[in-house]
Amino acid sequence: MSKSVLISGGGIAGPALAFWLRRAGFAPTVVEVAGGPRPGGQTVDLRGISKEVVERMGLMPAVRQRQLHERGFEYVRADGRRSVAMPAELFDGAGPVAEIEILRGDLAEVLAEATQEVEYLYGDSVAQLDQDANGVDVAFASGTRRRFDLVIGADGVHSRVRRLAFGPHDRFVQHLGGYTSYFTVEAPEDLNHWMKVYTAPRGLWVGLRPDHDPRFAKALLSFRSPVIDYDYRDVAAQKALLNQRFKDVGWHAEHILKQLPTAEDFYFDSTSRVVVPEWSQGRVALVGDAGYCGSPLAGHGTALALVGAYVLAGELAANGNHEHAFPAYQRRMQAYVDQRMELPPGGIKMAMPMTAFGIGYRDTMIRLMMSKLLAGPMGKLTVGKPDAIDLQTYSDLQSSDGPLRIAAEQTE
Ligand SMILES: Cc1cc2nc3c(=O)[nH]c(=O)nc-3n(C[C@H](O)[C@H](O)[C@H](O)COP(=O)(O)OP(=O)(O)OC[C@H]3O[C@@H](n4cnc5c(N)ncnc54)[C@H](O)[C@@H]3O)c2cc1C
Repeated sequence: MSKSVLISGGGIAGPALAFWLRRAGFAPTVVEVAGGPRPGGQTVDLRGISKEVVERMGLMPAVRQRQLHERGFEYVRADGRRSVAMPAELFDGAGPVAEIEILRGDLAEVLAEATQEVEYLYGDSVAQLDQDANGVDVAFASGTRRRFDLVIGADGVHSRVRRLAFGPHDRFVQHLGGYTSYFTVEAPEDLNHWMKVYTAPRGLWVGLRPDHDPRFAKALLSFRSPVIDYDYRDVAAQKALLNQRFKDVGWHAEHILKQLPTAEDFYFDSTSRVVVPEWSQGRVALVGDAGYCGSPLAGHGTALALVGAYVLAGELAANGNHEHAFPAYQRRMQAYVDQRMELPPGGIKMAMPMTAFGIGYRDTMIRLMMSKLLAGPMGKLTVGKPDAIDLQTYSDLQSSDGPLRIAAEQTE
């Protein structure tokens, strides 16, 4: 059986996979380009079958402890008055705010705590991969060289592993016409547990989402744009772009921009979809956004990453070799991935209209969908679609004492 597994990416999918692989007796190593677990992001939601995976990890109590209790999502006008509100219980919890919302940074922390025994290489990345019949030689950017039985790319939309083993970025990543940034700011008003978004003409979103501490909020700045030629790791260039786009936009944009220079958890990325026809090439495979990502417009990215990590580890453990495990992982996941990568009707054009008329039209359509007449059928349409996956029970992954066992081993 293949034992040593290098996982590139210490976001959500990477640590989740490391958790399961360790439980199944593999020796995972996670390499993360950032200097430590990355904070930042707004809330991500745990929907459907991903809740079951978190239960099986034994991490639901830790998640529940950090869970945010959001009341819903509302579009506001430039003067802050509500235009339309979608409460959390809308469509039986299948609306924009889910039952379990957790800050992405908090979820990353829960996963980091649960994988303390795993080897993490922070501040490094894979520079070269050479695979042969028996293993993969990995050259790291730091100059180190090591050999692993398997390599998994869990390094997000811009996956280096995918580029090295599968082909260039453009072959797999489709730009959906926008960019999004998240970072923490001082709250300019009491959000009262609501996520608020102001849409300005020219396809601009200015959003605020509750933090645990009501003195702070998670800001969101999002704009429509064709591909912009910039270095996606150049934070100064990204901040300059936001200053340009959101100057004099209104609502709390000015307040948010003022805090941009000192934002420590700044995150910026394109709104992109990732479609990779085959998720493995020999001894290298992909999990999470690196292999399948519907973009924040589709949502479900965190759920797909958690479920993908579970199924990949389960198949590796059950099959004994990657030649059977990798295709089985894709077979089990494909329908669910396709289902959850679907974009909402109208896509970015409907969500982020270019004109005042378009914004009014969008809000009217939402009010209509929530009306007494349509809320029932809409609810059935959204809630009535269970996740298109039959979650297996893998005997090698079964143990209700994963995190507890780690704690016990540390005290020995
Ligand atoms: C800081 C941050 C904030 C986010 N905030 C939100 C949010 O608010 N809402 C939302 O819907 N989604 C957000 N996302 C995306 C969301 O986490 C993912 O869509 C989803 O959880 C799937 O997780 P993933 O592990 O596949 O990818 P990611 O969570 O993107 O994790 C990928 C990891 O790989 C690391 N990495 C990248 N390149 C390399 C490399 N060459 N070598 C080693 N490591 C590398 C990254 O630093 C990152 O830690 C955020 C992602 C990040 C990184």
